[in-house]
Amino acid sequence: MSDKPIVENGQLQITDNPIIVYIEGDGVGKDIWPNAQKVFDAAVLKAYNGQKKIDWQEVLAGKKSFDQTGQWLPDDTLISIKENLIAIKGPLETPIGGGIRSLNVALRQELDLYACVRPVRYFKGVISPLKNPENTDITIFRENTEDIYTGIEWEAGSNEVAKLIDFLQNEMQMQKIRFPETSSIGIKPISIEGSQRLVSSAIDYALDKGLRKVTLVHKGNIQKFTEGGFRKWGYELAQQEYSTELAQGKLIVDDIIADNFLQQILLNPQRFEVVALTNLNGDYASDALAAQVGGIGISPGANINDQTGHAIFEATHGTAPEIAGKNLANPCSVLLSGAMMLSYMGWQEAADLVEKSIEAAFSQSCFTADLSEGDGLTTSQFTDVLLSTFK
Ligand code: NAD
Repeated sequence: MSDKPIVENGQLQITDNPIIVYIEGDGVGKDIWPNAQKVFDAAVLKAYNGQKKIDWQEVLAGKKSFDQTGQWLPDDTLISIKENLIAIKGPLETPIGGGIRSLNVALRQELDLYACVRPVRYFKGVISPLKNPENTDITIFRENTEDIYTGIEWEAGSNEVAKLIDFLQNEMQMQKIRFPETSSIGIKPISIEGSQRLVSSAIDYALDKGLRKVTLVHKGNIQKFTEGGFRKWGYELAQQEYSTELAQGKLIVDDIIADNFLQQILLNPQRFEVVALTNLNGDYASDALAAQVGGIGISPGANINDQTGHAIFEATHGTAPEIAGKNLANPCSVLLSGAMMLSYMGWQEAADLVEKSIEAAFSQSCFTADLSEGDGLTTSQFTDVLLSTFK
């Protein structure tokens, strides 16, 4: 009998036969997902000698869902993820014109998945633009619900923006808008709760993984109350909730200005272990860091609410329509996201096996075409190499 994962007394409870919900994904989703599922099952089997097994349950989203149900994101899918807590997904095609702006953003908002987590590490054998890419081993915690992600903005010339500019000039005595007649205006809210729950997740993750350093990345030198607030509230949270760990030297919290951070990750990446960022800064840093280990196409990601236990693990690339259905796609992004998921479930041994199988394949110069100088292996040939490491 399989069971739903639950949260009890703030702790995630997973039985030996948990239900895990998956969304296959569009485009290359159908190439990578079945292969990834084989690797997860083999890793779990090997790690626990058949004691544990995942009960995979498919839910629909994206184009596959639209074709079958007429809906891009059916209510049943949201209900299932809400009830089962943990899900993993392939890439989703974004509907063009009207309706939902982005299915990924809709899922994150609906479940209040406030932390976008991106571990960035180097795999030996992968081509990187850095001389010493192995020095980069940084986990990003990017805030997922505030800042520019709220999408609050008004277009230049609209009645709404005219009203807002009038309010700013006449009620708030704000005379700094250089071209009031032709400005669009955007608003970025950053709150104490939003900042502190993100920083708390980053610190808990660091302590759980035996890491000591959490760095708050911000632009507080320019925006004192939003970006500067993120920094200030982050430090306050650390002092209030983690004073013992700070006093014992098990935890160090520091901060850095975002532009210097982008410089330092190239020059001294070993300075950082876990970093917490506001939404926009986190967006830039995620892609920059992934690129510097050569892993933009293979980087894993998760969107998590540590308070409710809801988590969606995902391939971070898109649907790659030009290679979809050709058995050419690289499954590593969804595989490494699955390794994060296994680790989140407390199944670290299985997570390590997935990661080690990829390390082993790369070290034997086994790559899919995107990472290869020649033709490369097909998705299923590459998967067979991974599976052979479990024997
Ligand atoms: P993309 O990531 O699909 O493709 C960018 C490049 O990377 C292409 O050359 C593609 O062939 C390659 N690529 C991507 N994944 C690969 C893989 N697993 N193996 C080998 N090569 C791979 O980005 P795009 O072209 O900007 O977007 C295509 C579609 O995907 C759009 O509909 C977009 O909205 C959607 N998208 C979805 C997500 C998501 O669901 N997380 C993310 C980005 C884009």
